[in-house]
Amino acid sequence: MEFDLHTHTTYSDGSLMHMMASAAEEAGLEEIGFSDHANVSQRKAMKQVKYNNGFNLDMTCERRETAIEKLRERKEITIYSAVEMDYDPRDEKNIRKFLDKKNFDYSLGSVHNLENTNVHIRDYFRNKTKKSRRKLVKKYFEKLEKLIQSEMFDIASHIDVFERNPQFQGFADKEDYEQIAEAFKHSKTIPEINAGRALQGLEEIHPTKEFREILIEKGITFTAGTDSHRPEDIGKLNQHLDKKLKELDITVKRPQTLQH
Ligand SMILES: [Zn+2]
Ligand SMILES: [Zn+2]
Repeated sequence: MEFDLHTHTTYSDGSLMHMMASAAEEAGLEEIGFSDHANVSQRKAMKQVKYNNGFNLDMTCERRETAIEKLRERKEITIYSAVEMDYDPRDEKNIRKFLDKKNFDYSLGSVHNLENTNVHIRDYFRNKTKKSRRKLVKKYFEKLEKLIQSEMFDIASHIDVFERNPQFQGFADKEDYEQIAEAFKHSKTIPEINAGRALQGLEEIHPTKEFREILIEKGITFTAGTDSHRPEDIGKLNQHLDKKLKELDITVKRPQTLQH
């Protein structure tokens, strides 16, 4: 790929910026975007999540900006200053305010949480019945639909991220996918082909085949990102994405704000 628009540095849960940039150069990329996590929710439970994690771009934006500017002087590769925002409809006002104030090159919006718990956390969801898992997946898509309709973000990341948790696999249906495809049709936000799932055995990508096919059928186009957190992932996942995209005959593009 020419670009990887979804990577993480030590400004959230990734690796040192210069190492990520070097790895991207070695992988032959022309552009890399640092999309560190930001959660600007004022809800008590989400604030606690932020405190528990310890990282968050909400307080360190300017500091990262200075570091990126310095790094750009040393590197050939184009480096974007981006953000992956936690999205929940209840936080829209705060997210909008934050994005307006900070001057990111582009933004990603992500639904990561159900019941204020990251969908990856297996211990929490383990005791849920099948019926409530289905309900949670439905809830996830409701939030994602609102994210797309809000048009606050350039990119909607890993649009079936719950698939990374085996406890949620098999709970989405065609109707959910069609609802989301319809939302994308009327939005400037574009979905991402995301390699984050590939780390668990280098096979699957987001979105799943069934979901992807419905989106493609509706004429939705994609951008791409590896969701790399470690320098060694960048080359590996880009190669994987390249191969996958070729196999599936999918052309990815940059979001509108980056098109040149
Ligand atoms: Zn994410
Ligand atoms: Zn990410």
